[in-house]
Amino acid sequence: MEEISNFIKTIMQKDLETGRVSEIVTRFPPEPNAYLHIGHARALVTNFELAKHFNGRTNLRFDDTNPAKEDVEFVEAIIKDIEWLGYKPDKILFGSDYFEESYQYAVKLIKKGLAYVCDLSQEEIREYRGTLTEPGRNSPYRNRSVEENLELFENMRNGVYKEGEKVLRAKIDMSHPNLNMRDPVIYRIMYVEHHRQGTKWCIFPMYDFAHPLQDAIEGITHSLCSLEYENHRILYDWFIEHCETPHVPQQIEFGRLNITNTIMSKRYLRQLVEKGLVEGYDDPRMPTLIGLRRRGYTPEAIKNFILATGLSRINSTVESDMLEHFLREDLKLKAKRLMAVIEPLKVIITNYPEDEVEYLDAVNNVENPELGTRKVAFSRNLYIDRNDFVLQKPNKHYKRLALGIEVRLFNAYFIKAYDVKYDSEGNIEAVLCTYDPETKSGSGFNARKPNGTIHFVEATTARPATFNLFEPLIYDSEVDKDNFIERLNPNSWIQKAGYIENAQERFEEPEKFQFIREGYFTVDKTSTDEQLVFNRIVPLKSSVK
Ligand code: ATP
Ligand code: MG
Repeated sequence: MEEISNFIKTIMQKDLETGRVSEIVTRFPPEPNAYLHIGHARALVTNFELAKHFNGRTNLRFDDTNPAKEDVEFVEAIIKDIEWLGYKPDKILFGSDYFEESYQYAVKLIKKGLAYVCDLSQEEIREYRGTLTEPGRNSPYRNRSVEENLELFENMRNGVYKEGEKVLRAKIDMSHPNLNMRDPVIYRIMYVEHHRQGTKWCIFPMYDFAHPLQDAIEGITHSLCSLEYENHRILYDWFIEHCETPHVPQQIEFGRLNITNTIMSKRYLRQLVEKGLVEGYDDPRMPTLIGLRRRGYTPEAIKNFILATGLSRINSTVESDMLEHFLREDLKLKAKRLMAVIEPLKVIITNYPEDEVEYLDAVNNVENPELGTRKVAFSRNLYIDRNDFVLQKPNKHYKRLALGIEVRLFNAYFIKAYDVKYDSEGNIEAVLCTYDPETKSGSGFNARKPNGTIHFVEATTARPATFNLFEPLIYDSEVDKDNFIERLNPNSWIQKAGYIENAQERFEEPEKFQFIREGYFTVDKTSTDEQLVFNRIVPLKSSVK
């Protein structure tokens, strides 16, 4: 596996050396309001790998302090995704479990004269805040006494007021150049049921207040977050300082990951699902970890991709080719190489005995003998891919079958086409060929050179299979326009009905294969023994065609 290497590792190394921290503790803090996608994997892998590198620990903490839109379904899915990637959180925690502690910290701020209950409406607060060029104005409620604030805040907790009637604000500086410091709201009233706390609470802490406290309570040493929190760091540090937490975590920002031709915004993904434009969050075209898993992506490929793309302080866009590269690298030696025909065309070997099937020796992966050998059936009736035959060889670069042309069949014989049969509609139904018994399994590879090598399956033993072939849901050039939904790629999921050699009795998830000349495939969740279904994970880079 790739080694983790980035600017955060350097900071951690130094903090250990200077004794600022004695161990590295990180956390991954998803909001349980969506499925994780490949962008989240950057934060996830980074947090877990950094801690692992320093023999530290990583908590999974559900950031569930915003009660309106969270769901247990997502909690379970996220736990499973992390496990699938091969990581084990030191603890699984919920931000909402700290509601009592953060309430007490808020009381502490009030007592220190650093927080007050404010009756301004949301709009008024915004209006009073000022702008980047103009200072804000103090709220008329800013100078309430500690006693009054304590009483009002307790009333807020006890459900005395309506939603929006009062908020608790930190008392910082209404003319601070950073707008986040202009007396930010830290508690608001909401009469909603929380997915873990039920109706116990009707006041909820804001993210900027809750997050640093959660980090401090858990003893997180380095709190990694994406770039959009950069100008919230000053507030993060202010809360840590004034709440006098026992631990002092450090917030460090990193750039978000974008991938070309890959939609990652939660909003877009939700639209795709809600409008029924994809099968669900596990649709094999989705960039969600469950989608990628169903498609056949491996944890190793994803992790190596994340580690290789590195981490910087700016957002970055990486070519989707790069992810595909790591997939091929990972699957190259792991996957058996079998033969499957995706668009079948019959081939009849007219000089081969009728009613006879022979079994030829084949190795499962020429680069990895550990994957063993198998027998490949051969008879008078075969299928080849429709794209591997034309009537007339068009030019010298064409390395497939044509009338009067000889090709080699993988693991089998040389065959030469001499005629075709048409169906009633005038389409080519079968290609008539002869074979040369002297060329078995490439043996007796005589002086004559075939016009390329193609794959095939024996027709009577082949198993019918559906092949799902994918392209991006949408190309980048089409995304940033209105109604991106109308611009979805109509070819993003094509199904083909073909055959696979009967190489093993059962084909089951999550086994991966290389289908020779067609790409890497895995078994889809809809596959049955009677009707096999395969997803193409990724095509082969260099097609033999
Ligand atoms: P939202 O802000 O809408 O909730 P989010 O993508 O930030 O969306 P979270 O559940 O908060 O969702 O994300 C968990 C962690 O994953 C956060 O630390 C976030 O910064 C990180 N993350 C999410 N998307 C990316 C991305 N594309 N690249 C890097 N990190 C990401
Ligand atoms: Mg977020």
